[in-house]
Amino acid sequence: MVYSVKGMKNVYSSTLGFSRMGQDRKLKKLLESYWKGTISQQELAMGGIAVRSSNWDLMDDAGLDIIPVGDFAFYDHILETSVGFKLIPPRFRHIEDFVESYFAMARGVSDDDAQAQTHTRAHAVAPMEMSKWFDTNYHYIVPEFEPDTVFGYDEANKLIHESSTALEFFKKKSHSTLTHFERVRPVLIGPVSYILLGKMSNGDSVETHLESLLESLVPQYCVLLDKLADLGITTFQLDEPFLATTINEQVHRCYHDVYTKLNAHKSPQLSLMLASYFDEIASNVTLIRDLPVDIVHLDMGFSKNWELGTLFDSDKAISLGLVNGRNIWKHDLTRSIETIEEHIKKHPSIIATGKKLILSSSCSLLHCPRDLDDEPALKPEIKDWLAFAKQKIEELSLLTRVCNQRIAHTDSSAEDKKALAENAESIIARKQSPLIHKPDVQARLSTTGSDPKYYTRKSEFAVRKATQSDLGLPLFPTTTIGSFPQTPEIRKTRRLYKKGDVSTDAYQEEMRGHIASTIAFQERLGLDVLVHGEPERNDMVEYFGENFDGFISTQNGWVQSYGSRCVKPPIIYGDLQCQQEITSNWIAYAQSLTKKHVKGMLTGPVTILQWSFVRDDIPRSQVANQIALLIRDEIDALVHKGTRIIQVDEPAFREGLPLRTEKHREYLDWAIAAFKLATCGVEDSIQIHTHMCYSEFNEIFDSIAAMDADVISIEASRSKMELLAAFSQFNYPNDIGPGVYDIHSPRVPSKEEIRDLLTRALKHISREHLWVNPDCGLKTRQWKEVEASLKNMVEVAIEFRSQEHVQ
Ligand code: GLN
Ligand code: ZN
Repeated sequence: MVYSVKGMKNVYSSTLGFSRMGQDRKLKKLLESYWKGTISQQELAMGGIAVRSSNWDLMDDAGLDIIPVGDFAFYDHILETSVGFKLIPPRFRHIEDFVESYFAMARGVSDDDAQAQTHTRAHAVAPMEMSKWFDTNYHYIVPEFEPDTVFGYDEANKLIHESSTALEFFKKKSHSTLTHFERVRPVLIGPVSYILLGKMSNGDSVETHLESLLESLVPQYCVLLDKLADLGITTFQLDEPFLATTINEQVHRCYHDVYTKLNAHKSPQLSLMLASYFDEIASNVTLIRDLPVDIVHLDMGFSKNWELGTLFDSDKAISLGLVNGRNIWKHDLTRSIETIEEHIKKHPSIIATGKKLILSSSCSLLHCPRDLDDEPALKPEIKDWLAFAKQKIEELSLLTRVCNQRIAHTDSSAEDKKALAENAESIIARKQSPLIHKPDVQARLSTTGSDPKYYTRKSEFAVRKATQSDLGLPLFPTTTIGSFPQTPEIRKTRRLYKKGDVSTDAYQEEMRGHIASTIAFQERLGLDVLVHGEPERNDMVEYFGENFDGFISTQNGWVQSYGSRCVKPPIIYGDLQCQQEITSNWIAYAQSLTKKHVKGMLTGPVTILQWSFVRDDIPRSQVANQIALLIRDEIDALVHKGTRIIQVDEPAFREGLPLRTEKHREYLDWAIAAFKLATCGVEDSIQIHTHMCYSEFNEIFDSIAAMDADVISIEASRSKMELLAAFSQFNYPNDIGPGVYDIHSPRVPSKEEIRDLLTRALKHISREHLWVNPDCGLKTRQWKEVEASLKNMVEVAIEFRSQEHVQ
């Protein structure tokens, strides 16, 4: 390359954010101890400082130039933004203590908590709503606005506090070219995305009040800009993930107005960096180019983002989100270096004018596990292909060093050359590994191909329904979604069995005991379609993953899901095979104990895909089909042992929907196909159920119908059956079980409430099509609540059966 400017460094490494949990999920432990009352607020705060400093140390040691600050949050960064702008919904305002009110917003206050804390004048309050963060499995706390909401600036603003601590911290760390003022980069959600993430408490759409809310919010951002400038900060990162979605004219205009105001207000020493991620910016490119910001970050995992000449040739500095922040694969450094070189050749101005070029992760590393070094037991061959957050930071540092050397025509150090060569070897080893490529699997997939016979039930629903009438189910059949309470005893046995401290026989016997008592429990209550209760499953995805070749589980690959809750997504690294039957013996055992039908219980291909880290060398649709074939085999095994009703759960079906609407169709097509490939191999007499637990069905309505499950159970109780209007409007043809029992709360629904919900449901769905069930599985509930709730549910269903007039 010949584009060196001053013979000095032009390329810098950074990331948009880091995993917050700390080593060994330290933050989780701190939070849970605080909630139990075993540590004080002071200790919690100190623990938070320790987690942040250890992250800063880790990034500094790995050689990262620019460090994100403010990405940490005790519960959620959007909730912290709300608190920082004094957005506290009225029902929490009586809680005087700041920390208590913060956690009350996140988690609510139960009756018991309220009684125990009379001194804080708390009474039971419902938490704020939680929602999925774009298409990830992270959940944020949804800001609640009123039409007359007035934002404020909290003097104890955490961003300012953390930025000044970080400045102190990095002042002591020397760096070859950057001062600590340049290294510390505070990050916050941008104002437009912040408002769009929220909801109006009066039920209006947030767009209706977008301008007026921004009018009040933007001055508070300006206060923040002043304070950051006072600290000496040089760059402020504003995340605007909505820029990677399809936005309308109004939002477009708001972006323009808001950033014009912020730019006009800020001190010239402070640069604004605008970060978009999770998809292409597509047609938003001109908008972004014209916004008065200094640096733009793009997610380069989306190939179209490489083609935005108008942006790359503009006067803006660019942050290239190269290293995938949502996956765990080693980055192909050699290929990236070539790509960057070509890119600079094509757009020399991105460095030629002396601007900074930043190499970064695609998004925050919040979405990826912390450190691969914490995985001593991983099979070395596979471990060699992986990079967790810490390793990704190291990759970025190395990549940046090599790029700078190339630009300056200097030679890389022997150490860097070696690291680069090792990276290249790992990439090749993975590509060629026999662990990944299994000709049998590929051959089987090419047989099914797109042959419709593998993707369609033998007859249409009405014919199947008639055939299935010999199941002998009453009107308003009652059932549950699969899991029953998982007691500490069950969890302990599973843990000991996994460690090898309990023999297979003893384990099976104990689990059979749980199954037997769950069956007896359901018979006592009079449920119609029984389940075995899932005591043998730790997690609905990991359980299947553990049985598939081509899947691997980690020991510590935790990723935050919400608050203190983390999940450990398994890794799909190769072609998938399964040598044994997984569920059929458990179900057959449960069936042997009762004359009623026991429903087989499987996780669907789309959900398994969505809740795993997925190989990136073949399209996701192909991986989905591979999983589908294994689930199809499981269904065969269940049918072979006499199971007549089988549920294939797809709670993550909607979550996989791409951010950009123009990509929805393609996703939905292959996702539906995968579900059908899994479920369509059975005779008409087999009743296929599916389950989804969310209530936004409108956009995907046709697709749910196209999945053609005989019965779908959905979450509906909180939304009071409102979503059913869509089901009747679209004339959903098959059977539906809208949840009548909100399992997210310990509350026992009264018969009156259940009656009311069913009556509402009947306004939209005819009695021949209606099932009666809870919103979701009962895993997290207590037996006592479950017993009382299901008893009410069954009694109301019986009442409805005898009321011919109910229509
Ligand atoms: N069958 C699972 C259960 O009952 C479904 C869980 C889910 O939808 N998330 O636990
Ligand atoms: Zn569910």
